[in-house]
Amino acid sequence: MIDEPSRVAAWLQYFADLGISSTYRDRRAGPGFGRETFKATSRGDSSGPQSGTVLASNERLRDPITASPLPARTVLAAHFAGSRSVVSLSPTLFEAADRVEDDTFEKIRETIGDCRRCRLHEHRTNIVFGVGSPRAQLVFIGEGPGRDEDIQGEPFVGRAGKLLTQMIEAMGLRREDVYICNVVKCRPPENRTPEKDEMATCSQFLFRQLDVIRPKAIVCLGAVAVQALLGAGTGITKTRGQWFDFRGARLMPTYHPAYLLRNPAAKTEVWKDLQQVMAFLGLEPARVRRSPQPRA
Ligand code: URA
Repeated sequence: MIDEPSRVAAWLQYFADLGISSTYRDRRAGPGFGRETFKATSRGDSSGPQSGTVLASNERLRDPITASPLPARTVLAAHFAGSRSVVSLSPTLFEAADRVEDDTFEKIRETIGDCRRCRLHEHRTNIVFGVGSPRAQLVFIGEGPGRDEDIQGEPFVGRAGKLLTQMIEAMGLRREDVYICNVVKCRPPENRTPEKDEMATCSQFLFRQLDVIRPKAIVCLGAVAVQALLGAGTGITKTRGQWFDFRGARLMPTYHPAYLLRNPAAKTEVWKDLQQVMAFLGLEPARVRRSPQPRA
């Protein structure tokens, strides 16, 4: 267990890394982050990005499984905070996936069972389903469990996970207010990148989870998540910081926390991306109360 002063110190360091000198937390919206807490920013509300005119098709975007170009995709001009565009892909694999009537997390977990659908089951300790609120308005999607996650059966609990938790808290939220999951639910050996067929096999469950949650915003952490949701041709550097329209939700690609551990300077870019998500959801950044400084 990390003690409170160390947690606050880590936080302040994180904010300092982001170049934020003063922070605050606004609890006006209430302690939770359920759908009903943010009625004012519900879908279609003018506080979010709005679709506009069709500008062009985008041939870079491909089906995640076959890598063939996605049909009938369009890039919609839109405006977020006066300037940000929203890219709408249609249809995606997610949209093509069969919806399960009255689906629940319990049903999805039951379908997964003691999964042996792909080779990733051979080395796993635990299936890492996901954690957080099934009513979350915001979902974070990573790549796949690492060693700590495999052991504990919970996503993002290792070093990268601690950084993700700091990012969530910097947004004025708690881990339990959002939903956190991965593209694949079993740890790839030696933390290698999941193979295309492993992603294809497992992403049906991710899509069902998203269908149950129906979040307003999705943050894809890194290239694997972006490719799983938007298509095989979508790289993280080309997509990060842009809004994508994803089956009724807004999707924001950003760098993976593990990348940030290796490249702390990129935290500034990620913070910009998260600020767009916060603006869309009507969130205020967290407030850290500092102890009063002794007078000189
Ligand atoms: N990296 C991920 O992509 N997911 C986790 O759960 C942990 C690390």
